[in-house]
Formats: sequence, structure tokens, C-alpha cells
Amino acid sequence: MRRLVTVHWLLITCLLVACVAPVTPPEKFSLITHPDGRLYVGDQVSFEVMMPSGFKPEGHEVQVSLGDKELGRAGFGPYGVAGRTEATLWWAWDTRDLQPGPETLTFTLLPDGLTWQETVTLQPQSGVPPPEPGAHWAVLTSDCCILNYITGTAAERDIASLAQVADEEAADLSARMDESLSEKIPLVFMPRVLGNGGFAGNAIYVSYLDNDYLGNTTAQVLHHEFVHWFDTLAGGDLRPTIFQEGLAVYLSGGHFKPEPLIPRAAALLELHWYIPLRTLADEFYPQQHEIGYLEAAALVGYMVEAYGWEAFDAFYRDIHATPDGRDSQAIDAALQEHFGITFTELEGSYLEFLRGQTAPADVRDDLRSSVQFYDTVCRYQQALDPSAYFMTAWLPDYMMMIQRGIVADFLRHPGGMDNRLIEAMLVNVDHSLRAGEYDQAERTLKGVNVLLDVLTAYPNNGMQTSVCPALRTKVRVPEGFRIGTYSRKIKTFRRVCQPAGSSYFAVVMVASGYHYGQIPPPIKGAMIFVSQLKYGLHHNCR
Ligand SMILES: [Zn+2]
Repeated sequence: MRRLVTVHWLLITCLLVACVAPVTPPEKFSLITHPDGRLYVGDQVSFEVMMPSGFKPEGHEVQVSLGDKELGRAGFGPYGVAGRTEATLWWAWDTRDLQPGPETLTFTLLPDGLTWQETVTLQPQSGVPPPEPGAHWAVLTSDCCILNYITGTAAERDIASLAQVADEEAADLSARMDESLSEKIPLVFMPRVLGNGGFAGNAIYVSYLDNDYLGNTTAQVLHHEFVHWFDTLAGGDLRPTIFQEGLAVYLSGGHFKPEPLIPRAAALLELHWYIPLRTLADEFYPQQHEIGYLEAAALVGYMVEAYGWEAFDAFYRDIHATPDGRDSQAIDAALQEHFGITFTELEGSYLEFLRGQTAPADVRDDLRSSVQFYDTVCRYQQALDPSAYFMTAWLPDYMMMIQRGIVADFLRHPGGMDNRLIEAMLVNVDHSLRAGEYDQAERTLKGVNVLLDVLTAYPNNGMQTSVCPALRTKVRVPEGFRIGTYSRKIKTFRRVCQPAGSSYFAVVMVASGYHYGQIPPPIKGAMIFVSQLKYGLHHNCR
């Protein structure tokens, strides 16, 4: 499952600078508020409270209060794929009766009594970004599914075709896996990128939005998540992650697009990226995303080819946990039971099989660029959209959201200039990859990474704006372009301006006739110059 979920990342705090000002003690417990970005009167606000290193969470709770009124309390526990220890208070603060302006929240650690405060500024409700405040949940029922979406989003516009795609993909898998649905599958279309674009839980959650930097992969993602759904229906015992994800990619014929899985896995060997199977089986999600999924899919493909589908399916559904809790041991035992071989012997023959394959140059190039792309996406999410990072993603339950009439948690996401620039560059990389333009893709990725270097090195807007005018003498402004103005509102611009003594800088150029307020994603009329090299956005210049 492409599960989305949470890690404490220092840069999380930079997102909160605009609306949350810690009073005491910021170095001890840290806070993320939801929905992302600015908070508005009317929001139902959630809190993630992360503990400092060395703190033993057992027996402790965090209480949140506004004045004399307790808003809620929660104990510490693991959150997300990463299992980050935090106290999570879902929608604890209803702000509808408050006035715009600063509010001071008191956090108390129970039973110790340690107290600190955070000041949160509520914006006027009139400033809430579209499609709020009118947006609400809506539903469409198709043959296979109950499609939940938010009005005013791309999903609402395309809901009829989405229903058709869902029905086709579900029918395909129902036949292929010989499983029929006794109940319709709940689908939730999220108007923001979370993790890698989809996950399966009490429903199938899929990102669906225009200019999705992970690409227009709805059919592929739906197919992948439907495999998980039918796989669960088909039953079994342990169903190790390596086979769950391997099966989903194998039956989808690729991860984010149709791919020749076996030659692509053979390219892993050439690139020296092969992960030992025991490592992959025992620690699947921490591995490089693209590599782990590909290797698992090719393993399923190899086993189906070697033993046949029915024998593989019988083996996969008859794997049972061993006392040490390691999936690799459970797989080893089931392999011996079903095929008379050990996991080590299976890996030996799998590797021999892969070595006998040829990996065409374009397959290898595509794999190399794809791995760089998804690594960069992860890096971007961790740095500038941490609630989207799959290990610690903010994943509210859609049924609770519908009950409470909440849409903001899925609608709002960091939309600053830095986010829009980098997401536009990632969209370009995705287009280049799908067009087979690997050199161009890797050049743009290099630009994204240098920009992230700058942003992560100076996360707190600590530079003096007075330094920025020096850029005018250092950057040759192409004809028809100008350097963006140094408005106080453009924090990103100040953030990336060259601080004294640094060795590189980034600057945004805006084409004549445009100004920042006119730059929607994908960015029109903008160019990014990093270290005096320009990357990526030429064809968006208008
Ligand atoms: Zn999956």
C-alpha cells in the first residue's frame, strides 16, 4: 500500500512561521497545526505535538486549552508509516465563534504539569481560499464504487469519467483475481498530493488535481489500489508487504506507468541498486520507493513464471508469522512448505534469472531518472510540504470529515512561491520522463535539488532583504524578463536571495507583462536561475 503518513522534520517549523509563534519552549515539544498553512476563523483545527528526543512518552498526555476552556487531550503513540511518536488531537479546536487575530493556546503535559504556550493567528473567514467556503463533500455511485469528492475541485469536474475509469479497472481486476465485490468500494478523491498519490485503508484515497507533479496517473493508481482491495478480499494470513506491493505493481504492469518489469529489474543490477530480498522483506517501506516496488513486482513476476499463478497464489495466501516477527523468516518457511526451497535459494535463482535478461539503454535511463525523480519528490515534501510526506502524511478519515463537514484538511496545502516553483519544475520533469527526455529531466532535477539546498540551508527567512539588490548586478537579466520585486509578501524571494558569504543563489525572473500574483501553477512567465544556470522552465515562458 502506498500508505501516507509522518516524521518530525525540522523544516516543518518553517511552514508554521506565518501563523504559529511558539512562546515557550520551542526546543522541547514541537507543534504542527492542521489544516496546512494559514488558519481561518471557522476552521476546525487539529494538533500534532511531537516530543523532544529523550522524552519517555509512557503515561503522559498533552492537554490543550484556550483560556480556561480545555480543547482536548491525547496520549502519545506511534503515527504513520514512520511510527513517529506524537500526541494527535483531531479537530480539537472549533474556531467558528472567534474573532480574527492572535489566540494564545496553552499546552500542558500531564501529569507532570509542564506548560507552554503557542500563539496562533486566525485570519478573517472572508480570506479563506477558493473553492472554500462553498466547497462540500458530494458522492456519486457507480457499478463498482462509491466516489466521494469535494465540490469545486477537478474531481467534481471529471467525476463522470473517473467513475468510468474506476468501473473499468475494477472489472478488469475482478476477473483477473477471480473475486467479486459484495459491497461497493469507497473511493475518496483528494484535491492535493499526499505521499505517492494513493493509499488503501478503510477506503481507497487517490490524489486528483490539475498539475499534479506526480503525473496524470489516476487509472494506474486506481488499478494499484484496487489490487490491494481485491487482495484483501481474497484473504490469507500474513501477506507480507513485499508481496502485497509486488502483486499490486505486477498486476498493474508497472508502478506509475506501464513498464517492462523484468528488464527494468535487470537494470537494477547494472546500476548496483539491487536490495537483498531479506532486507526488502523485513524493511520494505524505508527502502528507496521506486526500487523496492520494482524489485518486489519482478519477484512476483518471476515466481508466477516459474511456478504458475495458482501455485504462487496458494503460497502467498499461506504465509504465517514466525515467533521472531520477521517477514523474511515467514516467507522462508512457506517457501519450504510449498516449493521445497529456502528464501536464499529463491533469491539465487531470481538473481540468475535477472542476469540472463537484457536491460535496454532506454529502460535503464528511465529507471535511473525515475529514481532521482521520486527521491527529489520525497525531499521536496519533507522540506516544504511535510504533511504530504508518505512516512508521516496527514491522513484524516474521510467519513469523519464528511460527518463534521470538513474539507479544508484536503483542500489546503502549502502554496507559497517556493512550493509553486518547485512543483512546476517537478511537473516539467514528469513530462520529460514520460517523453523519454532523460537528460532534460535530470537537468531540471538538478535545478530542483540546488534550489532545495538553498531553501533548506536558510529556512527561516533569516536573510536581510537589503542583500537582495546585489543580485541585480550578478544576474544577467534576459531580454523580456525582469527580477521579481522585493515585496515583503514574497517571502520566498527573500528566502532564496543570496545571503552574505554564500556561494550560490537562486532568483526568480518574471517575464515582462506578468507579476507574481498572475503566476498560477504551472508557472507562466517565470524562470529560475540557480547558481547562474537556468533550469527547466523555458517552455513555460510566454
Ligand atoms: Zn501499494
